[in-house]
Amino acid sequence: MLEGKHIVIIGGDARQLEIIRKLSRLQAKLSLVGFQQLDDGFIGASKEGIDDINWSNVDAVILPVSGTDAHGSVETVFSNEKVILNRKHLQQSPKHCVIYSGISNEYLTDITKKANRKLVKLMDRDDIAIYNSIPTAEGALMIAIQHTDITLHNADIIVLGLGRTGMTIARTFSAIGAKVKVAVREADLLARATEMGLKAIPISDLEQHSEACDLFINTIPALVLTEKVLAKIPTHSLIIDLASKPGGTDFDYAEKRGIRAQLVPGLPGIVAPKTAGIILANVLTELILEQ
Ligand code: NAP
Repeated sequence: MLEGKHIVIIGGDARQLEIIRKLSRLQAKLSLVGFQQLDDGFIGASKEGIDDINWSNVDAVILPVSGTDAHGSVETVFSNEKVILNRKHLQQSPKHCVIYSGISNEYLTDITKKANRKLVKLMDRDDIAIYNSIPTAEGALMIAIQHTDITLHNADIIVLGLGRTGMTIARTFSAIGAKVKVAVREADLLARATEMGLKAIPISDLEQHSEACDLFINTIPALVLTEKVLAKIPTHSLIIDLASKPGGTDFDYAEKRGIRAQLVPGLPGIVAPKTAGIILANVLTELILEQ
């Protein structure tokens, strides 16, 4: 039980509702910031402004998967208010207060460091990233089906990256009969892709393999679909870029060539917010109980 714990939940999408539901069930005291339009009443939860919170007894702060932007602003799907988390808020919290976020950026890392509070990046955990890759792959399938006029069966697809997300994407598209190539840089990942029955290509050779490809799915958070590569891509191709902002595609050049390229963040929250929220809620509960 989380009785006596004061947890501040700031912003986020429908995934946060599962977190609120679970923590409320475990009797935590919840301050909800950025949920003004939320109608559900959760036991032990109150909607508050970020500056109205009594930070002196806050045990944990939960941010959305996206964390904050470069200026501390937090995405709030359930409110029109602008919510900005700053160092002063964290400094008012007790020393043991832990900040939980999906990912971090320079701003969030800097304010937690300067306030001397622990920051836990949930997406650094393999368990969450792998569970999360399931709704991500389903979302990628949905977008691919919606935005192509061919079957994915027999389509030529290049998946860039074979990490926790790339592996699930490659396996999912291959399972429905697509001809999947995987572009990676390390020898062990080339071996893994081959073992999975996929065509492995060194990312340095991407250009040569791009000429006959219907769909690119990028999971590499670095510029890999460069002008040089895009110059070779057929204009009917679709690029689904899943990597965190700003993605791995030269979007300006893609637009110039008339290639459809979409940066698609937060797919689990779009296609399966309940499942994705439960994944986060379960791990967060364990972490806060251990705190
Ligand atoms: P990951 O396990 O760390 O995998 C990243 C992959 O990128 C690895 O194969 C890594 O290879 C490769 N890589 C990194 N930098 C590279 C570079 N400069 N050149 C070539 N390869 C490089 O990460 P993940 O959990 O799969 O997540 C991947 C990205 O997807 C992240 O940006 C994450 O935020 C995002 N994501 C988005 C969604 C969504 O809904 N859009 C959902 C989940 C994840 P090495 O092993 O060689 O480094």
